[in-house]
Amino acid sequence: MYRIRFHGRGGQGMKTASRILGSAFFLEGFEVQDAPRYGAERRGAPIFAYVRASSKAINERGIIQHPDLVVVADDSLVPVPAAAVMQGLDAHTTLLINSHTNAADWLHRLNLAGPVLILPATEEVEDRAELPFIGTACAGAAARLVGVVSRDALAGAIQAELGALGSQLVEKNTKIALHAYDLMELHAGTVTEGKAHSASDYSRPDWVSMTVEDVGRAAPSIHAAATSVEVKTGLWRTLRPVIDYDRCSRCWWVCSTFCPDSAIAVDAQGRPDIDYDHCKGCLICVAKCPPHAIEAIPEHLVQAAEETGT
Ligand code: SF4
Ligand code: SF4
Repeated sequence: MYRIRFHGRGGQGMKTASRILGSAFFLEGFEVQDAPRYGAERRGAPIFAYVRASSKAINERGIIQHPDLVVVADDSLVPVPAAAVMQGLDAHTTLLINSHTNAADWLHRLNLAGPVLILPATEEVEDRAELPFIGTACAGAAARLVGVVSRDALAGAIQAELGALGSQLVEKNTKIALHAYDLMELHAGTVTEGKAHSASDYSRPDWVSMTVEDVGRAAPSIHAAATSVEVKTGLWRTLRPVIDYDRCSRCWWVCSTFCPDSAIAVDAQGRPDIDYDHCKGCLICVAKCPPHAIEAIPEHLVQAAEETGT
């Protein structure tokens, strides 16, 4: 069975990628499952979608734990724990990353045993959730890597999945998917079917003795109060709200009240301050600020400026 996971951000078309690849497998005669898995349903938040394809009936369900291929549409997700890009990767797994960084550097960074391939990154865009047509490019590349999906099946799947959007969009998506398919020509068939995982393969774990800890640490976090501060939602952000204090009129209650995550604190002088560990980048404050004193800056530009000290 082929097991493939697509990782991206809300808005990048990972669900569409899984549907296109699933339909392409189906047109080649495979049994197929494809499904998205959302976390926070918000543009820019990490999501993944997965595809199983087999020539026999598929009895496996749920999230793919042992993928044969992991496709990453947005390389900024690799270090984000909540995205779980690296979950279950082993020597059999091929990792395909849409990135400006080369495969050797990714291998070095991640110390992986399996192959790493690069889908040449699209030009930098202001909002990463707007990466145009990245979903279809990922589906096209994945189709070539498995080596059992033809160009015709890929084009047929795009027609089946996107036909309702009109012929122009179908044509554009088909062109992009086939280009990505051709880019992977040298690696066609790199991804092979993983072995079956039977429930009987799992051995019963040894008895684990749990020591009793202070309840503040030992209680499941979902039952403990006031734990949300531990969740660094700032890692979701693709655009950072930055306050221009020269323009800020200290009308403090607007931005601090509208922020859904209470990430804007106000001092005694009415000066707002954004907690970037917990600002998730929804940009409501940018939209609400009366004098337009808050600007949305792409996160990668802020990080580059911080690194160079500019
Ligand atoms: S809403 Fe805008 S002007 Fe008002 S305090 Fe916040 S940043 Fe300043
Ligand atoms: S973008 Fe603004 S409103 Fe949204 S979480 Fe961050 S500080 Fe709050």
